[in-house]
Amino acid sequence: MNLKHLTDKTLILDTKHLVSRERDITLKLLHHLKEIERRRLFSELKYGSMFEYLVKGLGYSEPAANRRLHACRLLKDLPQIEEKIANGSLNLTNLSLIGQLFKSENIQDKKEKIGILEKIENTTKRECEKELLKHTQNTPPPKENIRQLNTDLHVMKLNLKEETVNLFNEIKSVLSHNRLSNDEMMNRIFKIALPIIKNKKFKLNAKFTTPAASPSITRYVPNIIKKQVYERDGGKCTKCNGSYKLEYDHIKPYAMGGESSLKNLRLLCFSCNQRRLK
Ligand SMILES: [Zn+2]
Repeated sequence: MNLKHLTDKTLILDTKHLVSRERDITLKLLHHLKEIERRRLFSELKYGSMFEYLVKGLGYSEPAANRRLHACRLLKDLPQIEEKIANGSLNLTNLSLIGQLFKSENIQDKKEKIGILEKIENTTKRECEKELLKHTQNTPPPKENIRQLNTDLHVMKLNLKEETVNLFNEIKSVLSHNRLSNDEMMNRIFKIALPIIKNKKFKLNAKFTTPAASPSITRYVPNIIKKQVYERDGGKCTKCNGSYKLEYDHIKPYAMGGESSLKNLRLLCFSCNQRRLK
């Protein structure tokens, strides 16, 4: 199909017309599916469920089948949404989200359902999800995990707060010209952040501003000594080589007159330090 000959105006008008026809067809399709389900025709066609019929019999992808089924059942339950599907203020994606909410929160009351549906009219998927969260009871956050797919690839599942996601999206948009994958972007951020965090914690930027010649008998460890201890011990626990929760440990305890000097300090991880104190 070659549309190069169309004027801009015709192209826009035709597209608008097609969208409206597409919605019309979607609505008709939902009615057809509703009727097939009512007659349980899918089992006549040797499918175990409507879902199976949509996927295997009609060739929809699983998510697409789910969206249509949710919408079809909502249309059966609340016929008044027909017009809103037709004019596009409710789309299949949002209907599917709300269908899942009604099910998971066991919302039965039709008035309540209509009330929620009105709030998600003309919303994007993200806006819709946000609105629906208001009607979700305190479900515990899903478990976080890291799964290894192959030697190099891992899948991480994290629960992130709104602010973190906004920061992530902001960096993503700043770097959008670079067309980075999430992995490449996070890799870049971590490589930038790690030295900064390390410098801050282990004072790797410390300079000889005041002479550290006379190691003082105070608990306070000067930044320059922290830097020297960290570098001498290679940023690892001197007992187990670990790097989790590192602390500066006085070999001869401060309470027994131990100095805060390079000689008397070492890096220990929290567990080794705890074991030592026992
Ligand atoms: Zn250790």
